[in-house]
Amino acid sequence: MTDLTDSSPNVGRGAFSESRRFRAMAVELGVYESESHLRARCAQRIGISEDDILGLRIARRAVDARRRGRTHDLRFVFHVDLDLSPDAACGKELARALKSGRAREVEPTMLFEVPEVDGVRRDRRIVVVGAGPAGLYAAWTLATNGVAVDLIDRGPALRDRGRAVVRFTRTRELDPENNILFGEGGAGTYSDGKLYTRTQHALEAPILQTLIDAGADSEIAFDARAHIGTDRLHRILPRLRARLEEMGVRFHFGTRLEGLVRSEASTVSALRTSAGEIPCDGVILAVGHSARDTLRSLSEEGLILEAKPFQIGLRIEHPQALIDEGRFGPGADLERLGHAYYSLVAKSTRETSAVHSFCMCPGGQIVAAVAQHGMLCTNGMSNSRHSSPYANSGLVVSVGPGDFGEGVFAGVEFQERIEARFFDAGGGDYTVPAQRVRDFLKGRESSVLLRSSYKLGLAAIRIDELLPPRMTAALRGGLRKFDKKIPGYAGEEGQLVGIESRSSGPLRIPRDRQTRLAAGFANLWPVGEGAGFAGGIMSAAIDGARSAWALLGHHESK
Ligand SMILES: Cc1cc2nc3c(=O)[nH]c(=O)nc-3n(C[C@H](O)[C@H](O)[C@H](O)COP(=O)(O)OP(=O)(O)OC[C@H]3O[C@@H](n4cnc5c(N)ncnc54)[C@H](O)[C@@H]3O)c2cc1C
Repeated sequence: MTDLTDSSPNVGRGAFSESRRFRAMAVELGVYESESHLRARCAQRIGISEDDILGLRIARRAVDARRRGRTHDLRFVFHVDLDLSPDAACGKELARALKSGRAREVEPTMLFEVPEVDGVRRDRRIVVVGAGPAGLYAAWTLATNGVAVDLIDRGPALRDRGRAVVRFTRTRELDPENNILFGEGGAGTYSDGKLYTRTQHALEAPILQTLIDAGADSEIAFDARAHIGTDRLHRILPRLRARLEEMGVRFHFGTRLEGLVRSEASTVSALRTSAGEIPCDGVILAVGHSARDTLRSLSEEGLILEAKPFQIGLRIEHPQALIDEGRFGPGADLERLGHAYYSLVAKSTRETSAVHSFCMCPGGQIVAAVAQHGMLCTNGMSNSRHSSPYANSGLVVSVGPGDFGEGVFAGVEFQERIEARFFDAGGGDYTVPAQRVRDFLKGRESSVLLRSSYKLGLAAIRIDELLPPRMTAALRGGLRKFDKKIPGYAGEEGQLVGIESRSSGPLRIPRDRQTRLAAGFANLWPVGEGAGFAGGIMSAAIDGARSAWALLGHHESK
């Protein structure tokens, strides 16, 4: 049995017995209480004796920063997995705790391995297109199960990618094949590396474990705000690639998918790429949602795509100290708590649409996340220590056919129009249009802009006039509401830049629920954000791995 409450790195495969496992929910500890008190708190929460807890490990740790009345009564809230004695596992106390929600039964952790893959499925040569999280974890799952995989990406390996990103920041010359969006690790390589997801799929733990094995902090396994940071991701990704290569995956960087060669209408027999034809028995398409050219040309070749609603908005930046104080109260111990995050939602009203914050980066930096000439799009990244003095976040509003019209690519064209408008307004050199929040609310240009983490310069522009009026109205409504939750949010120290147009994708590639095959294809599996089935690093990785399972004939029960 394992008792790991006295040390944080407590996650590992096989740490638990195969018997039923239970999770004590919402167990609280004061900010300065030691985790060694968890055993007693869990016993208390469930109503059993401490001696009946044979092993425990933290499944989730979060900071509860909700205000109680006027004060910030901060505490840590844990979910803790327990190995219980047979008596306790069958006892009335546990049954009562399960009924009331103080405990729940935990699904066994899944592994990448599929039992009994048949030889025909295993002996296929599969090409994975895209080295983002979806493609990498599809490749990982296939290789783990003995499938030969070639992984192609239009961008370069990380070393060359890093150089290109530095060059872009210095010269403002964009390489459309080598940038913040394209290359090893995909769009998540220059990010906050946030790893939390709402999917709660059982593959989450083994995916996190691969990252820990490659050098990520072991706390990502249970931290409710797990993140890696761009600096660490740059050390972890080459190790992941080395592991994949050991497992037999062959990487081909600088190789762009340009079209499909079919042996029959429904069967892809080779890929046309910028490096020549690559024969294959199956394709995992994991190109991300910035591969607009690829998705357009595949659509012309008969791949069915459909438009879907997506989100668009601005980035907002504040001093991180304002967010820390707003969330935790004055004088909070940031060494112990870490910098504050936020996740804000303003529901729709009769007059305005809903607004929510997205991809908040504490101690982060705003970057130009672009791969096409003549367009501007912002996003946020941060380093592992969240060390910049700025907090930034997306503030987004949903858009649908009512905003961009009918037609499969109408949403993409809407994105492109608005990205070009912001690019031109900034002067056409990646200077970003900016407006202080108070001026955005009042509808006037900012006479003085605030300092910002964005390195390519800011221009005072009426962003409120660059956006469609419905979005400006919604964002104004949202900002006023958010100011009540974090005092000063819509005040003197807040500044908006834009546009943030790629927080989610405008297209979906319809696929079969069970086989996960693209409509009309016998061997093409669309995955990840570009296919419209993910919205973040973890959800893309999980989607890639699950489609690899489907390719291997493993169908999940739900
Ligand atoms: C700056 C930034 C910060 C972000 N921060 C976070 C965060 O903190 N947490 C989070 O969860 N999400 C974050 N995201 C979103 C996250 O990165 C994406 O949701 C995720 O990367 C999607 O994964 P994917 O594998 O589906 O696609 P992508 O990561 O977009 O990968 C697609 C890959 O396919 C390649 N490709 C495209 N076309 C072709 C072609 N024709 N031939 C060959 N290869 C091709 C690309 O080069 C790319 O490497 C951030 C995104 C950005 C841009």
